[in-house]
Amino acid sequence: MADVETQDVETFAFQAEIAQLMSLIINTFYSNKEIFLRELISNSSDALDKIRYESLTDPSKLDSGKELYIKLIPNKAAGTLTIIDTGIGMTKADLVNNLGTIAKSGTKAFMEALQAGADISMIGQFGVGFYSAYLVADKVTVTSKHNDDEQYTWESSAGGSFTIRTDHSEPLGRGTKIVLHIKEDQAEYLEESKIKATVQKHSQFIGYPIKLVVEKEREKEVSDDEAEETKDEDKKDEPKLEDVGEDEDADKEKTKKKKKTITEKYVDDEELNKTKPIWTRNADDISQEEYGEFYKSLTNDWEDHLAVKHFSVEGQLEFRALLFVPRRVPFDLFENKKKCNNIKLYVRRVFIMENCEDLIPEWLNFIKGVVDSEDLPLNISREMLQQNKILKVIRKNLVKKCIELFEELSEDKEGYKKFYDQFSKNIKLGIHEDTRNRQKLADFIRFYTSASGDEYCSLADYVSRMKENQKHIYFITGESKEQVSNSAFVERVKKRGFEVVYMTEPIDEYVIQHLKEYQGKQLVSVTKEGLELPEDEEEKKKREEDKAKFEGLCKLMKQILDNKVEKVTVSNRLVDSPCCIVTSQFGWSANMERIMKAQALRDSSAMGYMTGKKHLEINPDHPIIETLRQKSEVDKNDKAVKDLVILLFETSLLSSGFSLDSPQVHASRIYRMIKLGLGIDEDEPMAVEENAAGAADVPPLVDESEEAIFMEEVD
Ligand code: ADP
Repeated sequence: MADVETQDVETFAFQAEIAQLMSLIINTFYSNKEIFLRELISNSSDALDKIRYESLTDPSKLDSGKELYIKLIPNKAAGTLTIIDTGIGMTKADLVNNLGTIAKSGTKAFMEALQAGADISMIGQFGVGFYSAYLVADKVTVTSKHNDDEQYTWESSAGGSFTIRTDHSEPLGRGTKIVLHIKEDQAEYLEESKIKATVQKHSQFIGYPIKLVVEKEREKEVSDDEAEETKDEDKKDEPKLEDVGEDEDADKEKTKKKKKTITEKYVDDEELNKTKPIWTRNADDISQEEYGEFYKSLTNDWEDHLAVKHFSVEGQLEFRALLFVPRRVPFDLFENKKKCNNIKLYVRRVFIMENCEDLIPEWLNFIKGVVDSEDLPLNISREMLQQNKILKVIRKNLVKKCIELFEELSEDKEGYKKFYDQFSKNIKLGIHEDTRNRQKLADFIRFYTSASGDEYCSLADYVSRMKENQKHIYFITGESKEQVSNSAFVERVKKRGFEVVYMTEPIDEYVIQHLKEYQGKQLVSVTKEGLELPEDEEEKKKREEDKAKFEGLCKLMKQILDNKVEKVTVSNRLVDSPCCIVTSQFGWSANMERIMKAQALRDSSAMGYMTGKKHLEINPDHPIIETLRQKSEVDKNDKAVKDLVILLFETSLLSSGFSLDSPQVHASRIYRMIKLGLGIDEDEPMAVEENAAGAADVPPLVDESEEAIFMEEVD
């Protein structure tokens, strides 16, 4: 028999990162070991959820066992703690894949988090909770039976490998049995009181009964003969059993009565989590601590929630819900194909499914919670849910309640900042996705502005500070606060005393595509064509004059730059810079172009179409522009003017936040200029062989004769 069994054993190596994680768990000192129980109970609860869900459409799935529960069995003599569930179980392939060979993104992320000082109790969030068993056990044996397979046993003492064998021990029916061989110094986890306290602390809200197998004593009346038997039996393995009447007199008494009372030990199941579902209770009777405990057991989070909304809806449709905002973005919130576990759906207290996507829009994917409907049918499937009208109404209500919750949060500036730092992307995604609530959501976004210093401000703050003659909300998009605040575009607007909103997250570009106005004020980009700043009569007059004066230069520059720009115009937005590049109203901004290039996911034709709309604006008050004008009027075909125009264009591309198509050509133009500045002869030989990087295609920067004028202006 033994031989047969050894032949049956297959050995597998753990996936490298998992092996690494296990040795970290085993060898590093952690005081907070008790969370292992929470993790294993949570896995059992998930497995029970799965079989319950399957049974809704196919009741025969429960033929292998109808009762759904979790059972904990401590055994001091053997030094083991056993956790049994009647959940879905694992097939052989599941055991191999789920417990050791398939890489998970959370493994590495969790190790990094640990190294960065995170707490071990965060493990569940990273989807590797099972391995926390090795906090208290040096060997773990998992026996599992799935409806579709035989019963198998997985076993590992860590050390890089595990074994799988067919299991011939007592049949489970269906479900999973995990035997933890408790480390010597962790014997407290074999104590009833410790287990009870741990379950109470971490798992009291689990929706299935958690039964602890406990030893109890009871008084029992037995006839003399029976008593003798019992006594003898007990003596074999339980020498301390007390029976009544050690002394002879009493014995005689008993003999007369032919009856006697003994104390008998027996085992019994004690249910540890009898609290009724928290969402069915009255909100006034629930403490913040209780919400916190429930939240943690629901989400595997190690911290309390940031905010909670507990409500019920009555009328044509009835449901209760409990929604939580976490304190932090999970590490994989926007990862593709993420397995979400956000809103659990119940129907009349019966768990139906986790991660019910149809209940909440994507932009609210950070909200966790529970919805319990009175109206949905119990046997509803995912496919049916998508069409379901009741569900649509519930969804609308959840969104409304979330917005209410954000509103409450925004009343406290400090608290709101904590929320906003974590979930600003989601709110902005909401503006992008949710047409109906767009204006409402716009209240929740915050930005730095040219006047806000180090404080975030809302668009409402901005509007309240607007100048009397100011019609629009001015904004600029870019890479960082630093970059945009130094941008030439902001110059004049600021100089006029107007505030500019700094939008520095990639998603802001998407926000402003949809958010065209706020409180009736149009949002205007300072980097796009047609920026109109309020002007008085004198300014208007000057602009008309400038336009006429520089018309020739504008035409000439357009000729030189050809299809590189769509238009060359006189600017009213520049103060210190000679020129800038603006984009047309509907083309991409420089920032958007940068983001799109970085994403590299557009086909290049769209890229060309969207990026092709650049306007060059020149500053009529700038000496470089004025000198260029004078020179061009003297000679339209002045070669130096042509070179300088190209150089100016390329430089303003850079300073306006665009990238150059051929930076080397630009660089060689600049080198020539440096040479000029240093008074080095163009033809002077180089010490090293001349580097021809683009030099061949580049016309000389200026003729000898014009050098003087040029240098004067650049100084
Ligand atoms: P997570 O539960 O977050 O996915 P774990 O490392 O805790 O990560 O578990 C890995 C996988 O092993 C689970 O996703 C599940 O498929 C399987 N598993 C673990 N425990 C059980 C159990 N008691 N019953 C059935 N499957 C389980």
